[in-house]
Amino acid sequence: PHPLLEIRNLEKVYQLNSGLLQRIARQPPLSLRAVDKVTFSVKAGETLGLIGESGCGKSTLARTVLRLHEPTGGSITFDGTDITKLPQKDMTALRRRMQIIFQDPYASLNPRKSVEDIVGLPLALHGLAHRREIRDRVVAMLESVGLKTAHLGRFPHQFSGGQRQRIGIARALILNPSFVVCDEPVSALDVSVQAQIIALLESLKRELGLTYLFISHDIGVIGHVSDRIAVMYLGDIVEIGPARELLREPKHPYTKALLSAVPQIDAGAKRERVKLTGDLPSPLAPPPGCKFHTRCPFAVDRCRRQVPALRNVGSDRTAACHLVDAA
Ligand code: SF4
Ligand code: MG
Repeated sequence: PHPLLEIRNLEKVYQLNSGLLQRIARQPPLSLRAVDKVTFSVKAGETLGLIGESGCGKSTLARTVLRLHEPTGGSITFDGTDITKLPQKDMTALRRRMQIIFQDPYASLNPRKSVEDIVGLPLALHGLAHRREIRDRVVAMLESVGLKTAHLGRFPHQFSGGQRQRIGIARALILNPSFVVCDEPVSALDVSVQAQIIALLESLKRELGLTYLFISHDIGVIGHVSDRIAVMYLGDIVEIGPARELLREPKHPYTKALLSAVPQIDAGAKRERVKLTGDLPSPLAPPPGCKFHTRCPFAVDRCRRQVPALRNVGSDRTAACHLVDAA
């Protein structure tokens, strides 16, 4: 079967400095390659975890995949349909099947709307139900996310952070999507609440047959929820593989560095410790060749000149590094 989502050479480049004033001042054009020709797929029913430091382009990638931001190159195929250039009105219909849960539930919930209105709005916008029906479906949805009928008339500020994220989840799932982007869904929550929300997302996934693209900068969270993991660095995906194998034996030096920063989860792991040096370079001026070479302890001359391609490095595993042996 074809993957539910297939992304090929996806690109999101922002042109900065292109305004009239900049042109008058003769400033050179500046482009920000937030997503730099990224290729990956998500299989139906799996959770693909996407990990990387903040500012590496994860959220932009997620929004571009859903066409909340328009891609500047490459293609997006959803359930066999190329949606890259689908007119926005057709996208609206399709968006019922592709939803997103945001990092900060408070910022993404309208403070002047009741829970009934917030969770029911997608149904109304898509013309899917009458008022009575909307209430019934909202009540059922609230129950699925651990909230109560008594919460219907309350407003976002009357809830805790964890409850607000439950409202955000209910709003994302009320249209019965098949694919859901979870963009740092627990990063804004207290550690004690994170586990509850993760458990909820996992049980909803099983019950509703969902497919997740799960984004986090926290390798503990990603390691827990993912079937496969994709590692992102400065707009590129540098390694993809099954979660267990990738955590046990990371191939790319950047993945090794991310994993070295946390205590060993698995005593049998063949993980070499790699210390990450220096800061994340500006995405406005990424290093030439391998973008990771300024921080990579293994960099050789070739790394500064030649861009490593993502290639097969094992069963269902790919990595973009000159020094990793091809399979
Ligand atoms: Fe390090 Fe070179 Fe591999 Fe890049 S290509 S990760 S610089 S060894
Ligand atoms: Mg982000």
